[in-house]
Amino acid sequence: MDIEQFRKAGYQAIDRICDYYYALQQSKFSVLPDVEPGYLRPLLPSNAPETGEDFSQIAEDYQKLIVPGYTHWQHPSFLAYFPAGFSFEGILGDLYASSVSNPGFNWLASPSCTELESIVLDWASQMLGLSSSFLNSSGVGGGCFQNTASEAALVAIIAARSAYKAAYPDTKLEDMRIYTTTQTHSLGLKAGVILGLSVRALEVTREDNFSLRGDTLRSALEEDKKKELHPFILIATIGTTSSGAVDNIAEIRTVTADFPEIKIHVDAAWAGMALVCPEFRELCFLEDINAIADSFSTNFHKWGLTNFDACPLWVRDRKYLTDALDITPPFLRTAQGDAGIVVDYRNWHLGLGRRYRSLKLWFVLRGYGVEGFQKHIRKAVDLNKFFVELVTSSNMLSLCAPPSLALSVIRINPKPSASNQATLPEDALNDLNKLFYGKLSARKDIILTQTVLNGQFCIRLAIGSAFTQEVHIRDAFELITHEAKLALEAWEQPQIGA
Ligand code: PLP
Repeated sequence: MDIEQFRKAGYQAIDRICDYYYALQQSKFSVLPDVEPGYLRPLLPSNAPETGEDFSQIAEDYQKLIVPGYTHWQHPSFLAYFPAGFSFEGILGDLYASSVSNPGFNWLASPSCTELESIVLDWASQMLGLSSSFLNSSGVGGGCFQNTASEAALVAIIAARSAYKAAYPDTKLEDMRIYTTTQTHSLGLKAGVILGLSVRALEVTREDNFSLRGDTLRSALEEDKKKELHPFILIATIGTTSSGAVDNIAEIRTVTADFPEIKIHVDAAWAGMALVCPEFRELCFLEDINAIADSFSTNFHKWGLTNFDACPLWVRDRKYLTDALDITPPFLRTAQGDAGIVVDYRNWHLGLGRRYRSLKLWFVLRGYGVEGFQKHIRKAVDLNKFFVELVTSSNMLSLCAPPSLALSVIRINPKPSASNQATLPEDALNDLNKLFYGKLSARKDIILTQTVLNGQFCIRLAIGSAFTQEVHIRDAFELITHEAKLALEAWEQPQIGA
């Protein structure tokens, strides 16, 4: 393809993307694709072509074969997992970033890439209300993009392990422990597997809304210390995946004051974006995070209007990362790096090369401004309040945990009526709800996620697509209620015969 062919194909691509978003806004297609596993292989040749093909043919095949296999994460009825960030500014940022295909591993690899990342992550940090200690401009702390929240946690754990080994060199790796809770994202266990370190998942209870409390942490720390084990990092979560629980960082702060060797990483992958609104900061323990977190990460690529991927990790002390990750062979040395007058982000993360992500976040932050972000977050929270009102008024559905920001967790739990006072035993309720979720997940016009909370099978509904409006939440509720009725009828059928 030459430059003029690119110009033509590029215009066509933008036109098609615009058509796609017009159709999506009007729900002209379902959120889930109508394809079966393995649909694509028979449609494509088994080898790459020997000679290059005309791009117009490639573009047609893309429309015909690939687009029909998409799950539409920006669809107004996408209510599963957590939202995937999106904005047109983000798309353009990625397009321009891709246009220079730049691995940006050190300052010299493209000065503007490094410098923009350092400035934009300062903007983002200030927008979220993080302490000035986390600013790149502080020269001590700072932030840089990681690939994902999982990698941010992994990097934080590697840094904490290194700091602990430096302070206590005789510690055996097999005695070192990562602390998480039973509600921490699987990133905690995965990091343990990757690093060969043990993970202790602390119990959290329904009564505490699945939040880690100080007493639980203290007794685990005392117990492990007695056994001569070495807990060295706690992964605390602001907004757990299953129910949006928030660990009690205020109590964690009190406890860890007595155990200063423990590092704290705050995983706020989804809910961290709510910090943009001052009214949610107390709920998310921002003051305590600012007081004790050694590292903090949140995904702009979830609730933060920025196309995947955009996950900053901020640290209070950049040496925390570089002491663990700086390996500089001669071919990576530069005059500026040697002089210590620039940041080489390759020493702040796992890979060498890194995507140029600051550009899209810069575009998005400028396009929306702080007010635009606040509006986006508040809208989703308000829509969730509306959904909660509908659930609360239903005599069939109930909430399994307090609603958290834009996330609700529900199940069928028929309320006793004048004619039927009986409540179902837990096992039966779980079977009924599995049946219910089976019915919902057989549909293509909505997508929700299952989870288990305290042994209870439940269904999560997470709001966050920029295109979701009140009408879509009302439709979703009606559809959920419809399937709940069918599930109850189907479930009662065999019971009558039994
Ligand atoms: N942490 C929490 C609380 C999450 O909910 C998720 C994903 O939903 C993650 C981490 C993982 O995010 P990533 O895909 O960026 O690793």
